[in-house]
Amino acid sequence: MVGRWACDRCGFVAWTRDRSEMAEVTGSHLLAHHSDALSASDFRVSWDCPYCATAKTAYDTDGAVAEFKSHLHGHVADRIAGRAHVADRVGWDGVVRVDASAAGDEADALRTHFHGAAGLVVAVTPTPERLVRALDESLDAWPRRTVIVSTGEYEFEATLDVDFEGRNVEIVELDPRLSPDEVGETVSRILDDNHEPGERVSLEVSVFHQIVAAFDVERSVAFVRMLAARLADTGGVLQLYVDADADRNVATVLNFLDETIDLTVAVDDGRFVRRP
Ligand SMILES: [Zn+2]
Ligand SMILES: [Zn+2]
Repeated sequence: MVGRWACDRCGFVAWTRDRSEMAEVTGSHLLAHHSDALSASDFRVSWDCPYCATAKTAYDTDGAVAEFKSHLHGHVADRIAGRAHVADRVGWDGVVRVDASAAGDEADALRTHFHGAAGLVVAVTPTPERLVRALDESLDAWPRRTVIVSTGEYEFEATLDVDFEGRNVEIVELDPRLSPDEVGETVSRILDDNHEPGERVSLEVSVFHQIVAAFDVERSVAFVRMLAARLADTGGVLQLYVDADADRNVATVLNFLDETIDLTVAVDDGRFVRRP
């Protein structure tokens, strides 16, 4: 669980590991909205709070800015929620686009945030060993059931210290020649075979770049829509890990998926932020 703050002036939302980390986020964000409340003249810096009558003038610019941020934070501190989850934003039912490299560890904190709060985890990933390690290191307890669908052969040597005996984990190796329809069918069958009624589902798709590279735009769009529709039956959150900046075709496909995607989140310095 994480702390959450939503700006009431724009669509920005931030989630941090604990509430104390939020002061830096709220202060900087509110200062950007109220930059005209800060002015410099005669070697001095002044700020004039837009929410109350407080105003300050100082010679120390950095100190004055830090004090203003901290003051602005004070106006919203009681609106920071504790024990929140990013998936609450979509009611644990919808499609979340995660702007991060699909194969890197940049978004592992977000992956484990989603997976750790679900009963059934299904992850389609090109780096299964890294995911297993991330889950094992960050979760107090593994989900009731984890099915990792790997696009390559799983190297058990890479995770020798992980005790699979004590975890309800299955590794499924996917034939790399499969079409998006067949990948979708595999995921659908896994959901059928493993989902227990009322259980939260976390479905990670970290192979979208490969799908877009191997197939045309239309089939790639259809793949995500089909998975989203399939997941709507059981309820659950589909996370699509994509780096649109790295791949123009992925960016094109994402434009077509605008209506399908319920929330876009980025990872920024260990914090999660909503991209409006
Ligand atoms: Zn804002
Ligand atoms: Zn004030």
